[in-house]
Amino acid sequence: MNPYTIFADIVAGRAPSSKVYEDDDVLAFMDIRPMTPGHLLVVPKVAARSLAELDPELGGKLFRVGQRLAAALRTSEVGCDGVNFFLADGVTAGQEVFHVHLHVIPRTPGDGFGLRGRPTSPRREDLDYLAASIRGALGD
Ligand code: 5GP
Repeated sequence: MNPYTIFADIVAGRAPSSKVYEDDDVLAFMDIRPMTPGHLLVVPKVAARSLAELDPELGGKLFRVGQRLAAALRTSEVGCDGVNFFLADGVTAGQEVFHVHLHVIPRTPGDGFGLRGRPTSPRREDLDYLAASIRGALGD
């Protein structure tokens, strides 16, 4: 599969972006099609197509940087009073750019952003069954 993504070009400085944060491992910049004003993307500089390919240390760093950005969004002129983190892993999850990225989405009342879908009410035994299966898959 073609490893090229626009985010690789942004990280390399070959494509433009509105940068907000940068260190040796991570870059954060404005989403070009924001869900709400101030919508940010946090990406590892070393490309990983999926969570499975992402170094867990780097994954932790994406979250830490996201946390700082969330605090900055609240006090900046964006002026939000809530923040959503969102990460799409895989086509079915809505991933369009195959370079792992954490969305940091500022929220204000009535902004219209939200997850679609309806919560279900499974029986405890069904929850326990799947919990056991997932525990098994962890392989600890
Ligand atoms: P995904 O659906 O993969 O989680 O999200 C991809 C995100 O990347 C979308 O929110 C989209 O607006 C953003 N995006 C796509 N191309 C570009 C680009 O060239 N520059 C920037 N800044 N964001 C982009």
